[in-house]
Amino acid sequence: MEEYSNRVAVITGGSKGIGRAIAFKFAEEKADIVIFHYDPDNSASEQTLKMLKEIGVNVRSFKVDVSNKEEVDSAFNEVFSEFKRIDVLINNAGITKDTLLVRMNEKDWDMVLDINLKGVYNCTHAVLRNMIKQKRGWIVNISSVVGQIGNVGQANYAASKAGIMGFTKSVAKEVAMRGIKVNAVAPGFIDTEMTAKIPEKVKDEFLKQIPMGRLGTPEEVAEVVYWLCSKSASYVTGQVIHVNGGMYM
Ligand code: NAP
Repeated sequence: MEEYSNRVAVITGGSKGIGRAIAFKFAEEKADIVIFHYDPDNSASEQTLKMLKEIGVNVRSFKVDVSNKEEVDSAFNEVFSEFKRIDVLINNAGITKDTLLVRMNEKDWDMVLDINLKGVYNCTHAVLRNMIKQKRGWIVNISSVVGQIGNVGQANYAASKAGIMGFTKSVAKEVAMRGIKVNAVAPGFIDTEMTAKIPEKVKDEFLKQIPMGRLGTPEEVAEVVYWLCSKSASYVTGQVIHVNGGMYM
């Protein structure tokens, strides 16, 4: 298809899991790829970069804490001066700090909201003006089924992911006339490092709630993200697309 030839896609949290699958999908479609990741000792990001380069597209990675506005602005300035444009922003970086609300301290509340929600504001704010000038752009924010239905032990995470849904719809309305589409994807239970830390007993309980009876793969999420940024979804904006094996309908 090569619909993305000469386009630039920035994927936050692109070093592993869902973000990495999204980066591979866009690279296969010949987009230049920029990855933001956080952990300086993350060997996954080196490995991801190496594999992306083998696909034959331009690739850059930045160590950026998406919750830090200064770091985000400075990384995007570098991206703009190197690549001259940003066509696609995938706000995917996210963390969990799970515990019941009665035990949840302010630090864990703030950290999850700062990375998962403020990070989406920081990155979107940094690219939007340029996308408006280009009169073209695609933003996809990775929310979660938990933002829709809630989950025990995840009040901070669910609040951040529900916030992403409201943010997506508001910004979509603001820029719809400017040629920019803003959508969210809400994955269910996807097989990544994030879910690997969930105890087997809890996982078995989750599986009972999934009509398709299995976890999703990062690639299954990446396909939907890519579709939202493709010509096939040219009349789709402000939507939350659920990718969850039927867990929430
Ligand atoms: P993951 O494997 O843990 O990957 C998370 C990514 O986010 C990593 O690349 C990580 O980079 C990056 N990251 C974390 N904190 C960051 C920060 N402060 N600044 C920049 N990057 C940061 O998680 P995943 O399962 O692929 O999840 C990806 C997204 O999907 C998240 O937003 C998550 O909430 C959402 N989601 C996941 C599931 C699921 O079942 N897995 C379900 C619904 C929604 P480093 O490794 O370098 O720190």
